[in-house]
Amino acid sequence: MSEASVFEQIRYEEPAEGVARIMLARADIRNAQNKQMLYEMDRALNVAMHDDAVKVVIIGADGPHFSSGHHLKDRSRIGDYGPPIMGVGGYRRPGQEGHMAMEQEIFIGFCWRWRNMPKPTIAQVQGKAIAGGLMLVWPFDLIVAAEDAQFSDPVIAFGVNGHEYFVHAWEVGHRKAKEMLFTGDAISAQEGKELGMVNHVVPNAELTDFTLDLARKIAKQPPFGLKLAKLAVNQSLDAQGMYNAIHSAFGLHHLGHANSRILYEMGVDPTGAEKIEKEAREQIASGKAARKEAAGKG
Ligand code: ZN
Repeated sequence: MSEASVFEQIRYEEPAEGVARIMLARADIRNAQNKQMLYEMDRALNVAMHDDAVKVVIIGADGPHFSSGHHLKDRSRIGDYGPPIMGVGGYRRPGQEGHMAMEQEIFIGFCWRWRNMPKPTIAQVQGKAIAGGLMLVWPFDLIVAAEDAQFSDPVIAFGVNGHEYFVHAWEVGHRKAKEMLFTGDAISAQEGKELGMVNHVVPNAELTDFTLDLARKIAKQPPFGLKLAKLAVNQSLDAQGMYNAIHSAFGLHHLGHANSRILYEMGVDPTGAEKIEKEAREQIASGKAARKEAAGKG
């Protein structure tokens, strides 16, 4: 894969015949998504889609956590990592306009683009996938979760409705969607399976091999059949209004951002940002303590 050397935030691997694997490779920052990572992900998915030898793509992550969400301190701008993809424009306009354009490009734009890519995709998730982290899970076709996986979207604390790719009601059902948003609490791997969001729950040590076996099995199928099946299921969701619902929720999301801009002169409620960062720090500290204890026992 000639482009592999140009990736810094991810790795592009070919672990088996017919299978590509894209790994988030920033465990040092819990795979928080900066713009560079999202553009690299988009480019890597393009490579996989354009390579006829690749039939299935796995999306995974290094380290104990899949992704902690948007990198809130990322100050890079659209255009820093190559030309914009979605043709939105206006990224540097003042007011809510530039902010909305940025999120149309790299969040809702990328997620919808990835969701509609023709080859089967499988997310393999361990540890936490928080808020924007779900945008690297939900656009993909299948989800294999390690036993310790947790899925959450606590961004009501920021003063918005949820993260930008608003498919919560499709993923976990409308009642659980409301509960996960209202409380900010995480859905466990097992609960995710019971809700139909997660395909398989496996021990952490087996996550990589199990997902690869599943990908190998799918890779034996004829690619055109796979493409048609994926299109057919996606179109069933589209017939229910999925695209329109996502974009309607995105409008509400930007009402939330705009309201914070008026109240706090920034796009999110700062007390919410503090709350979420504090909780994340506490969770990481307790996770480290638990791992230390487990290592001591071992
Ligand atoms: Zn936003």
